[in-house]
Amino acid sequence: MSGPTLPLEVRPGGLHLPGLELFLDPERAVPAAFVSHAHGDHGGGWGSGVVYGSRETLALLEARHGAIVGARVIDWDEKVDVRGAQLSIAPAGHILGAAQLVVEHARGRFVYTGDYRTGPGATHAEGAPIECDTLAIESTFGLPMFSFPDREETMAALVAWCRGVLEAGDTPVVYAYALGKSQALAHALVAAGLPVIAHGAAFKICQAYEALGVPLGIASGALRAYAEEKKKKKVLGAVLLTPPRTAGTPMIKGRKGFRAAYVSGWSLIDASIERLRAEIGFALSDHADFDDLLETVRGSRARFVYATHGEPTVFSRILREQGIESEPREVRAIDAAEDAVE
Ligand SMILES: [Zn+2]
Repeated sequence: MSGPTLPLEVRPGGLHLPGLELFLDPERAVPAAFVSHAHGDHGGGWGSGVVYGSRETLALLEARHGAIVGARVIDWDEKVDVRGAQLSIAPAGHILGAAQLVVEHARGRFVYTGDYRTGPGATHAEGAPIECDTLAIESTFGLPMFSFPDREETMAALVAWCRGVLEAGDTPVVYAYALGKSQALAHALVAAGLPVIAHGAAFKICQAYEALGVPLGIASGALRAYAEEKKKKKVLGAVLLTPPRTAGTPMIKGRKGFRAAYVSGWSLIDASIERLRAEIGFALSDHADFDDLLETVRGSRARFVYATHGEPTVFSRILREQGIESEPREVRAIDAAEDAVE
């Protein structure tokens, strides 16, 4: 048993690297924070004295919160000195701008994945394991029951379902959280030639993605914002992309011919589909599934692994059973119903 080369603590506010006096994805403003990506459950530290993050993450946080006073961009090829250690970032997959934090320090290398997915994506950089001594990895889907089907096939099945609903003269409603998933889906649907109307919250982030150099089809008119007058229309003639929280609102409820799908890793749990009164689920996630998490742990060659977020206690125990030294770092409960969580 060798222990971590850099300890990770839980302090009021969130995960903390004591030697660096740096919080990782704190839930609120702290003196110094690294924000791995712009989702609400990771970006609570946007008001911190210093906010380290990728250029894209800080831009997306600003799209949501206005100017980030403490913003300190870490470029993708930059090293930043903090209390004798060097900070750098590497793509985490997940959503646009999502970054793993790499800390080079006297005793080795520490990596914090933040929310993470392996494999390519059309709307963000590809995430991959980074060799290190101590790894802190998210474990949102860190249970063996979470095994996602092939991503491209799932996306193709979603496109086919939407096309079929449109051809039947109905309106396909696609529930997806507003930041990250909605942009990935808009990109795929538009590329397949389907018109898309996005809920205002998702559309605003689509605009931010386009401003960051990820075209989604707004200029060509293939992707449009949902406007109130569309409430009067019986058939939208387009795919309606909207956050799960709009299920049960007048935008959807009681409208004839509106047929819904839920697109999320959580759709592997049947109850999540029923809760939204959706007729079908597509298990397309912006997170690694259980096997991908294990492969990332092995690929990192880390001698000590912290599990954070989601199911850290269970995932950590599974790692120990496989002979990998590991401890959980429980930060806060994850609410699967919250749009911003995934
Ligand atoms: Zn996230």
